[in-house]
Amino acid sequence: MPKQKIVLIGNGMAGMRAIEEIKKLRPDDFDITVFGTEPYPNYNRIQLSKVLQGDTEVKDITLNEWSWYEENDILLYPGETVVKVDKKSQVVFTDKGREANYDYLILATGSNPFMLPLPGVDKEGVTAFRDIKDCEKMIEYSKKYKKAAVIGGGLLGLEAARGLLNLGMEVDVIHIADYLMERQLDREAGHMLQTELEKQGMNFLLEKQTVEIIGRNRVTGLRFSNGDRIKADLVVMAVGIKPNVSLALETDLEVNRGIVVNDFMETDTPNIFAVGECAEHNQMVYGLVAPLYEQGKALAKRICKLEDKGYKGSILSTQLKVSGVDVFSSGNIKEYDSMKTIKLKDDWRGTYKKITIENDHITGAVLFGDTREGNKLLSFIKKGVQIEEYLALGEQTESNESLVAEMPDDELICGCNGVTKGTIVQAIQTQGLSSVEQVKGCTNASRSCGTCKSLVSELLEYTLGDEYSETQQETICGCTTLSKDEVIAEIKEKGLTHTREVMNVLGWSTEEGCSKCRPALNYYLGMINPIDYKDERESRFVNERLHANIQNNGTYSVVPRMYGGVTNSEDLRKIADVADKYEVGMIKLTGGQRIDLLGVQKEDLPKIWADLGMASGHAYAKSVRTVKTCVGADFCRFGTQDSVGMGIQIERKFEGLNTPHKVKMGVSACPRNCAEGGVKDVGVVGLDGVWEIYVGGNGGVELRKAELLVKVKTQEEVLEYIGAFLQDYRENAKYLERTSAYVERVGINHIQEVLEDKQKRDALNQSMEIALSAVQEPWSEAIRNGTLLRDLYEKVKVSE
Ligand SMILES: Cc1cc2nc3c(=O)[nH]c(=O)nc-3n(C[C@H](O)[C@H](O)[C@H](O)COP(=O)(O)OP(=O)(O)OC[C@H]3O[C@@H](n4cnc5c(N)ncnc54)[C@H](O)[C@@H]3O)c2cc1C
Ligand code: SF4
Repeated sequence: MPKQKIVLIGNGMAGMRAIEEIKKLRPDDFDITVFGTEPYPNYNRIQLSKVLQGDTEVKDITLNEWSWYEENDILLYPGETVVKVDKKSQVVFTDKGREANYDYLILATGSNPFMLPLPGVDKEGVTAFRDIKDCEKMIEYSKKYKKAAVIGGGLLGLEAARGLLNLGMEVDVIHIADYLMERQLDREAGHMLQTELEKQGMNFLLEKQTVEIIGRNRVTGLRFSNGDRIKADLVVMAVGIKPNVSLALETDLEVNRGIVVNDFMETDTPNIFAVGECAEHNQMVYGLVAPLYEQGKALAKRICKLEDKGYKGSILSTQLKVSGVDVFSSGNIKEYDSMKTIKLKDDWRGTYKKITIENDHITGAVLFGDTREGNKLLSFIKKGVQIEEYLALGEQTESNESLVAEMPDDELICGCNGVTKGTIVQAIQTQGLSSVEQVKGCTNASRSCGTCKSLVSELLEYTLGDEYSETQQETICGCTTLSKDEVIAEIKEKGLTHTREVMNVLGWSTEEGCSKCRPALNYYLGMINPIDYKDERESRFVNERLHANIQNNGTYSVVPRMYGGVTNSEDLRKIADVADKYEVGMIKLTGGQRIDLLGVQKEDLPKIWADLGMASGHAYAKSVRTVKTCVGADFCRFGTQDSVGMGIQIERKFEGLNTPHKVKMGVSACPRNCAEGGVKDVGVVGLDGVWEIYVGGNGGVELRKAELLVKVKTQEEVLEYIGAFLQDYRENAKYLERTSAYVERVGINHIQEVLEDKQKRDALNQSMEIALSAVQEPWSEAIRNGTLLRDLYEKVKVSE
């Protein structure tokens, strides 16, 4: 018997999910043909925001690859639009002259972005934010122009605005209401959101009605109803969507706002179905994937002739996908006289929670700043749980048990795909899953917006226990299940820019992090993005925060830089004068050939630095500290090279460079090695016509002899190899890993292999140059910055 034919119009998220559901139920029962106007395989439209924000590339958001269609025996016509449906003879016709017969027709034509009918809307530089094409257009524009205006302060507008900021544009968001996301948030949360986004660089024009898009052919600005104008080279319209019903109308199907369907997604013609944003169920048109996927299930069961109660409508929940800002909203959040609310606002943490209660049942929730309870509340709202039950649960959660351990099996982990804890745990147990990717493949959890990824990871840990831990690498600290390498990869992939954001986005178990991860994240972020990253002083240890070493009696020490251990009478005089003026406790020569002024009061530090007028010696920092030198060829009978000159060059080049741990160097001019390069992080030894470079030595607690990295001829090559080695160490060592431990761990042979490759060496040096270009002299910076002076050096006893 020939198979029955299904034709799907619209290769988007809802239509293809319906097909996937059909394939799951009856893998071989149908011939399936798919038409899609867009020239791509089915992709994750939700993730377009992430593409625009630079977290993800277009190629990474494909849901079903070309090969998937082939393997599943599905005929796909990409870039082809169905222009006509003949209901009687059950045939569709496309713009390429193709015809296809169907037994079942599914319309999943999605929505069209709503473009305000303003004068000038057709001008070049006006775009919607709906598909890959729009996304690419914005990326192109950002390369040529600076000013963008986003009309619409809803979810989509804000995600677009964040993306445009990431692309380097200045962004004005124009919103007609007096607070943001007014459909999902209340005024309180809307204002908190605005403050947070303003901090990220967005500019808001609220209660503004755009009346004209200005410009000749290309947009140059906007005019508002009150006569105000702003400049804009790009205008993104994000004011809403309208169901794409044109084909349905021509086919004479019943259409209201969307294509009218029953609980089985049948239109008024029983073998024609509609699903997704183009469909209207019970007078509701949905614009989020969770309900569309539920619709797909009901439709699949109907076509596969399985008993089902059908689709009964959905309770919505939304989450804003903007890094560093957590917003969740679900159910009915508007306040009426008949209802009660619980509101908790924590100005200090910047969090807000509102729960709406009707007849003792939870009916809606808004979360800002901490959305971890989001899915739980969504489940409760769906089930209409009594508020007492929720409050009682809150008391139990005071215990230290993991959040996922306490969840009931029917609680949702993935809101988009409706996947519960029970389903995931069962899949892990019965199918031997051990990674988030496997859970995603098996259950669909975290396959859409991806915000539940960390919960899935926690569930794996909870279900597999030690077994899961064994498959994981060493984590940064107890606040995360991620290793250093994973965190670095995520920072790069998601374009994360500050420690709080990393913790939020990567699901840290503590809000503030800890003394282990905070400085580490601060270092990794600065290493990855040395130019734009703003160092977070509060994430540094006290010595680094104050640019001086705290001593056991609460006083500090001051160590000015002395390049290569060389000084002069003028500097010595200044040091002596300062020592007298501030009555320093002791003047001491350090092992790194510098002068240490000990016993200084904290409030005197900036004054001493100003009086000295010398650079900081970074004696307190995880950074390049000293380059010790021997007297070398100029004075010594044995010296064959200019060790002092070489040492000064090295120190001047790398001074102030942030490194995973302190870095000390030594340059000697003969194998007698007076500068003790054998126990330095980098030791350089001059022989006749040759420089030997040693790395990974340590004279501290873990005594370790440095290993020969390479022999080179010129001073330029010495700098080139040290630059490449230090950058390799910066990129690959764990924070607080000395070079000795790093060299031991990865092996000198591996480092030699990397550095011998000229291309790799050059690339490392290029990154090094970028990092060096961002180095600032910390003492003079502190003196210049009045706020810092006040905050850090005013007379308060430091207890650390
Ligand atoms: C930037 C962005 C961010 C979003 N973020 C979220 C989010 O965080 N969470 C969430 O739940 N939802 C989000 N959404 C909404 C979500 O993407 C949509 O709800 C979902 O994609 C709708 O699925 P659909 O299949 O109905 O429509 P679509 O995915 O739009 O698919 C419809 C397809 O049909 C094609 N088509 C139309 N007419 C024809 C024809 N005649 N012939 C052939 N093909 C045709 C279209 O070209 C289109 O590819 C976001 C949307 C955007 C644009
Ligand atoms: S290392 Fe060689 S040149 Fe330098 S001081 Fe010692 S002996 Fe002299």
